[in-house]
Amino acid sequence: MGPALLLAAALASGQTADPALLARARKLLAAAPLIDTHNDLPSMLLEKYKGDLTKVDLSQAQAALCADVPRLIEGGVGAQYWAVFVESSTMSTHTALHEALREFDVTRRFIRSQPRLELALTADDIERIHRSGRIASLIGVEGGHMIEQSAAALRLFYELGGRYLTLTHWDNVEWADSATDRPEHGGLTRRGEKIVRELNRLGMFADISHVSADTMRDVLRVTRAPVIFSHSNALALAGHPRNVPDDVLRALAANGGVVHVNFIREFVDPAHAAWDAKHQAARKAIEAKTDDEKAVAKAVADFEKANPEPAGTVALVADHIDHIVKVAGIDHVGIGSDFYDDGSASMASGLENVTRYPFLFAELLRRGYSDEDVLKIAGRNHLRAMRRMEQVAAQLQKTEPPLILDGPEGQ
Ligand SMILES: [Zn+2]
Repeated sequence: MGPALLLAAALASGQTADPALLARARKLLAAAPLIDTHNDLPSMLLEKYKGDLTKVDLSQAQAALCADVPRLIEGGVGAQYWAVFVESSTMSTHTALHEALREFDVTRRFIRSQPRLELALTADDIERIHRSGRIASLIGVEGGHMIEQSAAALRLFYELGGRYLTLTHWDNVEWADSATDRPEHGGLTRRGEKIVRELNRLGMFADISHVSADTMRDVLRVTRAPVIFSHSNALALAGHPRNVPDDVLRALAANGGVVHVNFIREFVDPAHAAWDAKHQAARKAIEAKTDDEKAVAKAVADFEKANPEPAGTVALVADHIDHIVKVAGIDHVGIGSDFYDDGSASMASGLENVTRYPFLFAELLRRGYSDEDVLKIAGRNHLRAMRRMEQVAAQLQKTEPPLILDGPEGQ
């Protein structure tokens, strides 16, 4: 391709952007504020540094991490939910709650260590902190296993700053099915319904990313407040079970909630599911031939070279936004990137790190989204849902006592 064609191809994929649209996008994000509902920096700080913040300077760019202050500023981020996450395998070792406390601790410490960050607990906090030129920092709890079936633990997570609970992670919990496990409860159990109602009473979002489609439907049936998907995409475009089916998108519109769109290539790229199946079959065939780990790794690498992983594009992420707007409406879509590593091999190409948000919004402007639409997607839809959730909680607290649910035998 000649230079003109290369530029045309790059513009069409959203990899690069018209400078005028990019400037307009940056201006809108500065006003919005841009709220991202999922980033896994807390887990990276524990994995890489055991939570020792003297070993890393977040006021400087840290390309190996999924966020740092200067790159968040460059990306126009006004508010970030940091994910408190521990693997669901901690359920079998009964260490989930203990590990969750380490996550809360490191999250609160790194927020406090950076003058440009401030812990936000309400929608008003987000706007106040953003106006002051700093980045509002919120906490989302990714995985219901961390409460270890204790309503007391859930309430203390709220006190520590948690403002959403993702009901499951990759595996089922005792009271809700995950999208990526074998169906066990057919959605939410009675206990699960009570936990959702307690989230409503507390003023914490029920986050239905990661849960099975039946759990999504059950949550939308029992919740009294708007719910969120903190990091999910549209199933109609990419067939990963973690993505959201159209009937749920329609129910979400009636609920007043928001789907925050994920940038991970596996959930974004329509070609990924088929590639994944091929990749797994190839690995099985290779492993059937040899036990030698090095030989397996080499053969898998050769397969990947011959069959590159579908890597997503900025345009494909914009396609997910288009679809959600078409089915649920412009008031029900937001941003939940899910940055969790250095981004080079995991995220949609063009959206590898937290500096890249303006490119996605420039692509939306190119497609004809208005300034008002951009402000809604960037953060105002989230603020609206959060304010409504806060109002519902204030009402419920006048009449409903806290849930008593300790111990796995209780109902
Ligand atoms: Zn996740």
